[in-house]
Amino acid sequence: MQDHYAVIGNPIAQSKSPMIHGMYAQATGQDMDYNKIEGPLGGFKTAVDAFRAAGGCGLNITAPFKLDACAYATHKSKRVELAGAANAMKFEGDKVLAENFDGIGLVRDVTHNLHMPLKGKRVLLLGAGGAARGALLPFLEEQPAELVIANRTLQKAFDLASIGAQWGRVRSSSYADLEMHRFDLVFNATSASLCGELPPVPASVFARCNLAYELAYGKGLTPFLRLAHNSGVGQLADGVGMLAEQAAEAFAWWRGVRPETQEVIKVLTVPLV
Ligand code: NDP
Repeated sequence: MQDHYAVIGNPIAQSKSPMIHGMYAQATGQDMDYNKIEGPLGGFKTAVDAFRAAGGCGLNITAPFKLDACAYATHKSKRVELAGAANAMKFEGDKVLAENFDGIGLVRDVTHNLHMPLKGKRVLLLGAGGAARGALLPFLEEQPAELVIANRTLQKAFDLASIGAQWGRVRSSSYADLEMHRFDLVFNATSASLCGELPPVPASVFARCNLAYELAYGKGLTPFLRLAHNSGVGQLADGVGMLAEQAAEAFAWWRGVRPETQEVIKVLTVPLV
């Protein structure tokens, strides 16, 4: 009998997860199906209860339900506790295990696919929302020389840096105060690109930068990537690898086998320049 998985969100039509997990299942010979659930706003618990009652084994969670998933879980990983958000759940009887693989997927893409270690590097993270929170612990576990978090709402960057301080060298900054500083890797974890906007990052941060990484995917050369490109950054990337890698982590967590990600990345890649 097939095992059932799904992604839940609202809206959900845009989700690539069924295609990605379908390719992983085929490549690894797993007997499973993977569908989309449009959860009604305010109706996350009812929708997940129904999925479990029908024998569902696990879910991916996307906007706007990542916080609801955290609240629904009975067992949360350290990453979920820290991010306050979950992007994957596994059901084992009465137990609901929650994980957040966004940050691990990002680090895996950067270090493994893009061959860019974070260890000893000066890293700038723009944004302090859900994706940045998910990235905090996996970034610090790589032991960068320093992690600087800049956000439009400075207090959120400050709060996040305060949480991270127990794991490594991390501080917050306003965008204006970045002017005098240089970074080896710069990550755009704001949602500005989704509306074609540029976070107010000074071009000077790219002066010695080796990698500019846009977490949004499928948008081509976003204003952030264009600024980095025009500032001479040698390597640009978007979040397609992060998407594929976080999915592979969830797949391995559910099925006990980690799929190769190259084919998924190839299929979903949109040229950046
Ligand atoms: P959130 O809504 O949780 O956070 C949004 C962040 O963007 C906040 O820090 C907000 O600042 C900042 N922001 C929004 N607009 C602007 C702007 N015009 N200028 C400066 N800052 C701005 O979003 P998420 O963290 O969930 O998502 C962030 C990005 O990461 C999105 O592009 C999303 O697509 C991408 N993502 C990619 C994934 C992948 O697998 N590749 C997975 C998850 C997310 P403030 O606090 O001041 O409001």
